[in-house]
Amino acid sequence: MKTQKNIIDQRRPIIMANWKLNGDIDLLCKSVSSFVKHAYLAEVVVCPPYLYIRDMLNFLRNSPIKVGGQNISKHDSGAFTGETSARMLKEAGCRYCIVGHSERREIFGENNISCQIKITRALEANLTPVYCIGESQNEYEQGLTEQVLSHQLREALEGIDLTNKNLCIAYEPVWAIGTGKAATPEIAQTTHAYIRKELCEMYGAEVADTIRIMYGGSVNKTNAHLMLEQADVDGLLVGGASLDPEHFSEICRSAEETAKGVCL
Ligand code: PEP
Repeated sequence: MKTQKNIIDQRRPIIMANWKLNGDIDLLCKSVSSFVKHAYLAEVVVCPPYLYIRDMLNFLRNSPIKVGGQNISKHDSGAFTGETSARMLKEAGCRYCIVGHSERREIFGENNISCQIKITRALEANLTPVYCIGESQNEYEQGLTEQVLSHQLREALEGIDLTNKNLCIAYEPVWAIGTGKAATPEIAQTTHAYIRKELCEMYGAEVADTIRIMYGGSVNKTNAHLMLEQADVDGLLVGGASLDPEHFSEICRSAEETAKGVCL
């Protein structure tokens, strides 16, 4: 359970919607209107398809909801058709950027090395990268979770200085994404504690205690609060349920309740 005010104050609960390649601008604007009321104590971030980022930023101009990108280019500028840089996202008004989502790894061939470059680009542009890690079903069944996560963390964060920088980690077991089979809150907690231990070895306790570790994978309105109750679960990355305004609103409300509980 979350009790330590000094730690939690640095780790405000964060809920991030990954809308992937879904929706249209009317639907997305209607959807945010339903959960804006829960975005004051908890931090709520929406990641729309690129083409809608500007519209979303305009629509949310006087709202506490923040906007993030689902991906960024490894490159800053040049002849890279179809790419968008971290600097451009920041210039548009985004605060966050997802890096290394398992769909990017599986479908678009990204790996820890490309993630390392993207995390560097995001930090240079003062965007907060949300670095996604997670084991496959096969790796989970073979008991390789910690080994896989350690490798994903150490390879992608190698040489990355986090002094005065913000980074979030999203633990997204691949077997839980879009399957309806979320990890249990106990598995999430054990795994997040392991991730924090790794971060502690890499960056020291002071930095590791400030890094928010989000859980992602079949989060819904029923399991959200059970996840958020766990000491090392600092937020949620939500795919499918973020497209359902009623579900997502409930998930944000759970985070708001968690924030209230820990901000007493
Ligand atoms: C995701 O794709 O990041 C995700 C967590 O999806 P879902 O919530 O649908 O499992």
